[in-house]
Amino acid sequence: MKAVCVYCGSSHGASPIYTQAAQTFGRALVAADLGLVYGGGKVGLMGVIADTVMAGGGRAIGVIPELLVNKEVGHEGLSELHVVPDMHHRKKMMADLSDAFVALPGGAGTLEELFEVYTWAQLGYHHKPVAVLNIDGFYDPLIALLRHTVSEGFMRQTYFDLLQIESDPAALIDKLQRYRAPAQDKWSSARDNV
Ligand code: AMP
Repeated sequence: MKAVCVYCGSSHGASPIYTQAAQTFGRALVAADLGLVYGGGKVGLMGVIADTVMAGGGRAIGVIPELLVNKEVGHEGLSELHVVPDMHHRKKMMADLSDAFVALPGGAGTLEELFEVYTWAQLGYHHKPVAVLNIDGFYDPLIALLRHTVSEGFMRQTYFDLLQIESDPAALIDKLQRYRAPAQDKWSSARDNV
C-alpha cells in the first residue's frame, strides 16, 4: 500500500475531538510511510489532516475541482495539487491514486464519497479496502442503519462486512494493510445462489 484516500469534513465539527483525530490519523499515515490523497482543500478537517501530514514530512496529494478552488480554498502547500474540471474527475482521480479509502467524520459530501467507493467495492469495480474511522462513536448511527438494511433484507451480511470499522487510527491502518478482498463480488455470489 502506498497511499490512502481520506474523506472528511470541510468543517471542523462540534467537538475538538474530531480535529485531534484528524491529526492523529495524519501522523499515523506518515509513521506508516503512506501518502495522503484527499480533496485538496484548506478548510475544516480536510485542512487539518493535510497540514499534519505535510508538517510531519509526509506526502499529501490534493484533487480539487475548478469550481471549489476558491470555496474550499485550494491548499498551496501540498506535495501535489491537481485541479480537475469537475466532481466526477475529482472522485475518479482520488480513487485511482489510492490503495484504500477511509472516511473520518464529515457531512453529506463525505458520506457521498464514502458510499460511492463502498458500492463500487460491492459491485467488484475495485478490491481495495473501504473503512470508517469511528471517532467517539460518530459513525454508530450509520452502522446501525446499515445493520438494519441487512436485517430487512436489502443488503447481504457479506457486503456489510466489506466496510472496515475501527476507532483507533493506528489499528485502522494495520487493518487496511492486512486486508484481503473477498473473492466474489455481488453478482458472482448472486449467480452462485441461483
Ligand atoms: P462535507 O463532508 O460535506 O463537508 O464535504 C467534504 C468534501 O466532500 C468536500 O471536499 C466537498 O467538496 C465534497 N463533496 C461535497 N458534495 C459532494 C458530492 N456531491 N460528491 C462528492 N463530493 C462532495
